[in-house]
Amino acid sequence: MALKEVLLVDPERCRGHGICCLLAPELIDLDDWGYAQVLKSQPLSSDELKSASRAVAGCPARALSLVQEGQKDQRN
Ligand code: SF4
Repeated sequence: MALKEVLLVDPERCRGHGICCLLAPELIDLDDWGYAQVLKSQPLSSDELKSASRAVAGCPARALSLVQEGQKDQRN
């Protein structure tokens, strides 16, 4: 069974570089102050997971993470 993963941003770590938005524009947008906000709170498809993985790896502040769906509420 495939894992159901969701993308999370830690607002305390986010520094507003915007790299994530370039790497996964379908999943991440920037708010009015330039900080990342995740657009999809549901589990990611396999294609979305690839984009999300690139964004997680590309974030210099390590503000993004992929977690299994059941762990989402524990992280927020
Ligand atoms: S790349 Fe990381 S630090 Fe920069 S906006 Fe995206 S989540 Fe925030």
